[in-house]
Amino acid sequence: MSGPQKKIVKRIRIDVDKCNGCLGCEVICSASHAMPKYSSNNPARSRIRVIREPLSDIYVPVFAGEYTAAECAGRDKYIIDGKEYEDCAFCRAACPSRDIFKEPDSGLPLKCDMCESDPSLDEPLCVQWCLADALIYEEVEVAAGDESETVAELDAGLQALAHKHGWPKVRDAVDRMKKN
Ligand code: SF4
Ligand code: SF4
Repeated sequence: MSGPQKKIVKRIRIDVDKCNGCLGCEVICSASHAMPKYSSNNPARSRIRVIREPLSDIYVPVFAGEYTAAECAGRDKYIIDGKEYEDCAFCRAACPSRDIFKEPDSGLPLKCDMCESDPSLDEPLCVQWCLADALIYEEVEVAAGDESETVAELDAGLQALAHKHGWPKVRDAVDRMKKN
């Protein structure tokens, strides 16, 4: 009898102790997502942002995660080396209550895409550019789940587009793409 199905998940492990706050990851991520590619390097377009506290030698890279349409009701407090960080400092979500992880021109949410490209890269660009080895690329085998996570991502993305442009324009765009 065959066991549960497995799938490979790509992830980046963060070793906060090794991060020196150089911001190389922000530079390469934003440059590779610029249009045209590598035409600019505005960190506001980066899918990774580094929380920096140079006086305390604290640097924490945070990857852009899921978009959330409403700000959450809960708040976390972080105290590191005696310094209290603002409620949302290390959150990965793009959300209505702050500007981080939003495309500066359109306001659309940003999410790390693991540098998916064709041909694929050996490692994501931020990992390649992190000379301090604070970002470690891994491929791990996990049990295959259902498709609900992917569908939820799709829903969130469509809702964000509709919020920005209205459903009629989103429908028109989908119709146009189907014809191509
Ligand atoms: S994996 Fe790629 S898309 Fe994600 S933060 Fe790193 S450079 Fe940006
Ligand atoms: S490139 Fe590495 S060391 Fe530099 S800020 Fe990013 S995670 Fe930290």
